[in-house]
Amino acid sequence: MTTTAEDLQSIRENVRALCKDFPDTYWRETDGKGAYPQDFVKALTESGYLAALIPEEYGGSGLGITEAGVILEEINHSGGNSGACHAQMYTMGTLLRHGSEEQKRRYLPAIAQGELRLQAFAVTEPNAGSETTRIETRAVRKGDRYIVNGQKIFISRAQQSDLMLLLARTTAYGDVPDKTQGISVFIVDMREVKGNLQIRPLDLMVNHHTNTIFFEDVNIPSSSLIGEEGKGFRYIIDGWNAERILVASEAIGDGHWFIEHASSYARERVVFGRPIGANQGVQFPIAKAYAHVQAADLMRFDAAAKFDRKEKCGAEANLAKLLASEAAWEAADVCLTTYGGYGFARDYDVERKFRETRLLTVAPVNNNLILAFLGQNVLKMPKSY
Ligand SMILES: Cc1cc2nc3c(=O)[nH]c(=O)nc-3n(C[C@H](O)[C@H](O)[C@H](O)COP(=O)(O)OP(=O)(O)OC[C@H]3O[C@@H](n4cnc5c(N)ncnc54)[C@H](O)[C@@H]3O)c2cc1C
Repeated sequence: MTTTAEDLQSIRENVRALCKDFPDTYWRETDGKGAYPQDFVKALTESGYLAALIPEEYGGSGLGITEAGVILEEINHSGGNSGACHAQMYTMGTLLRHGSEEQKRRYLPAIAQGELRLQAFAVTEPNAGSETTRIETRAVRKGDRYIVNGQKIFISRAQQSDLMLLLARTTAYGDVPDKTQGISVFIVDMREVKGNLQIRPLDLMVNHHTNTIFFEDVNIPSSSLIGEEGKGFRYIIDGWNAERILVASEAIGDGHWFIEHASSYARERVVFGRPIGANQGVQFPIAKAYAHVQAADLMRFDAAAKFDRKEKCGAEANLAKLLASEAAWEAADVCLTTYGGYGFARDYDVERKFRETRLLTVAPVNNNLILAFLGQNVLKMPKSY
């Protein structure tokens, strides 16, 4: 399906209209209480936009990454935080491309309807960090079941989700010639394994509902396995380009929010008898951040278009994630500086968005790892790790 500029504009306007019901005060309150933005996620689900990437035959809208990115961008541009529910889009690639027809029929229509939530994606572990092949969580096959033991860290929304996409080793690191082998992906119905899954919330600087999860003899059916056993790392990598483009889109939304707030405040705030924006020391950094956000936006659309045409887009997706998260962070810093002391006051929302956008340079993948990808795979320099 080809999306026209008018289609994209219409998506933007509809998402903006939806977000109007969830103003800054809503996000400030949920952030302040550490609460989950339940009503917002419900409204987004009911609008169908959260199911943008689910094909129509399974009850979704069957849209591409370009449109999905625009949806997340508009949420963040409105002052909201799509981190509350973006994993439902991040996880789609693995389930759609590698899930069995039976798994898709069982889960996708219910996810599209909002009857089931797939909001948890469990990859990171304390002893592995960015080196995903070092994960130690083990899934051992026993007849038609797998028994899972191990620990995950920084797993967001595990308590707000019914389903979790889990990465675990089915063969130990030391027993495979290629370290990317022996890792498998499972779709775990957390409602069925409650007693053996301990979820402990982490106290973080962002309202992300992030947890440590302990798996103690978690018994799951073998039908939870996605694709072939031992090939899960490959499946997850397949989803990375989509994820990077979606993160870039969120960052661009944040970037625009910061630039608009900074320029508006710079026009209105009068000190020394004139608007602070009349000073080049205030105006130029805002203009520069704007230029960087706009440039990153072009790279995001380039990557998304290639992805949707099913062309290779590793370089573009990584560039988009790097440039957009850095441009958003620059815009955040400039906005805080422009607001002066008021930037630190919670009522102005700058400090909240400042914290939220900073995360995008670190998670779901650190920008150092993006630079390593570009250095090694695009510029053919030696592997740095
Ligand atoms: C709020 C939040 C939510 C998250 N949600 C999830 C989630 O839902 N699911 C999930 O699985 N994970 C999640 N994460 C984890 C996140 O993806 C990781 O924190 C991130 O990928 C970085 O891994 P790490 O923290 O272990 O850093 P480490 O791997 O320990 O790295 C620490 C630092 O060293 C740098 N570094 C490491 N190796 C190299 C190298 N070879 N070259 C250059 N620099 C290097 C890194 O770039 C980083 O700056 C979340 C994290 C946060 C903070």
